[in-house]
Amino acid sequence: MRAVVYDSPFTLEVREVPTPEPGPGEVRVAVLQTGFCGTDLHLHAGGFMGAYPLIPGHETVGVVDALGEGVTGFTVGEQVTINPNASCGLCPYCREGRPLLCDDLRAKGVNRPGMFAEYTVAPARQVFSVDGLDPDVAVFTEPTSCVSHGVERLSPTPNSTALVLGAGPTGILLAQLLATNGAAHVTIADRAAFKLDTAGRLGIDATYLMGRDDLATDVDRLRAGSGADGFDLVVDATGVPALVEQCVPLARKGGTVALYGVADHDARVTINPYDVFQREITIKGSFAEIHSFPSAIAALRARRVRTDGIITHRYGLEDYEKALRAIAHHPGVHKIVIDPRG
Ligand SMILES: [Zn+2]
Ligand SMILES: [Zn+2]
Repeated sequence: MRAVVYDSPFTLEVREVPTPEPGPGEVRVAVLQTGFCGTDLHLHAGGFMGAYPLIPGHETVGVVDALGEGVTGFTVGEQVTINPNASCGLCPYCREGRPLLCDDLRAKGVNRPGMFAEYTVAPARQVFSVDGLDPDVAVFTEPTSCVSHGVERLSPTPNSTALVLGAGPTGILLAQLLATNGAAHVTIADRAAFKLDTAGRLGIDATYLMGRDDLATDVDRLRAGSGADGFDLVVDATGVPALVEQCVPLARKGGTVALYGVADHDARVTINPYDVFQREITIKGSFAEIHSFPSAIAALRARRVRTDGIITHRYGLEDYEKALRAIAHHPGVHKIVIDPRG
């Protein structure tokens, strides 16, 4: 089969590799399309938790192609998605019932073979039916699942206000799910007007175009538009340190800040500890997900999270490097999907 293979960071090739055979308890999936995400850019540069050689790609929709020994509950041809993440079951965190914090988290497309390939194999317990769901919607299951975990971490209270910095695909999914899970008013902010247009069409309460003046002015205007002295929830969905630094100042007294975007490993930000102390601000991280696929699929099927218009570009597997350049440099890119058949 054809696959994108990184021999090391920055060194990739689209080449022929053996088609994986499903072992006992495993399912082979023929990939229909796989979403390209910011994490893939970090992996390109050797960041996140990448282990090389690596076939990247962790946001996929495909069809069941073959069943390993003992697998029941799936039929060949059924449309499925794959939860890339699995825990070891043996480390202290797994034994404490906190598998997402696993010391040996196995993640397809990160440190296990991923889905920028024609086929992939996964344990049946990581495979979920998305039969009947438009593949352009189902391809968002993994990011929606991460967002669902983020909403669990934030647990918005009824009537709370929320601000999401960053209207990338993830920011838009998160803003929607916050709105359907308690937040009474959600604002999303970004420098790209077309991303805010998509957010507006998908029903986000308010959008704010950043970057017209300096960042301090943006912060003042956002706070002024909060209807209070800031927002109950402030989520950074960018990983950009300059924006992360503004999250605490944008939070209302007693508010919660969530660090959701992937920052560089060595990024640092400045916070004012007195302000966090005196205004009782909570700062939380939200990392990936492990048990959120069922809730994500339910949200997508019920259109509590909508994805219409987010996919802007499609590439074949052979054009992976073009996709990389586009996501890094093309200002009109929102979500790219890679179709290994095209
Ligand atoms: Zn992703
Ligand atoms: Zn573990």
